Amino acid sequence: MVLAHPQKCVACHLCEGACSFFHEGAFQPSKTRIFVHDFVDEAVYLPVTCFHCKDAPCMVACPFSVMGFHEEKNVSHNCDLCGGDPQCVKICTYDALEYAEVEPIEWMVRMDIAEKPAAAAS
Ligand code: SF4
Ligand code: SF4
Repeated sequence: MVLAHPQKCVACHLCEGACSFFHEGAFQPSKTRIFVHDFVDEAVYLPVTCFHCKDAPCMVACPFSVMGFHEEKNVSHNCDLCGGDPQCVKICTYDALEYAEVEPIEWMVRMDIAEKPAAAAS
């Protein structure tokens, strides 16, 4: 799984370009499988890609909104880890992305984990 370290992200969006170039041969953010959310006012930049949930609801139901849709091929797509050689991790010189072996967990458990830091900050 690709893990994100948002505190290190500078929102350069190179990971999105590397992802689309690897899969589509073009630097096109609309075809990326990793999404960097910019919360400029809060100075928070959050790279997110597929968590490969154990019980994946997928498509429009994805609670993390990390499913992409290829408009020319008319298919949805998500992170495939680049066959074990994640291009987004390779291009991120800020170490904001990490490739790690992580046991898949249910999406609701993942949601709880994602919400905890936000709750702690409020
Ligand atoms: S390449 Fe790294 S620093 Fe740049 S947007 Fe992606 S995760 Fe953030
Ligand atoms: S691991 Fe590969 S497919 Fe997944 S987000 Fe990174 S570049 Fe895209």
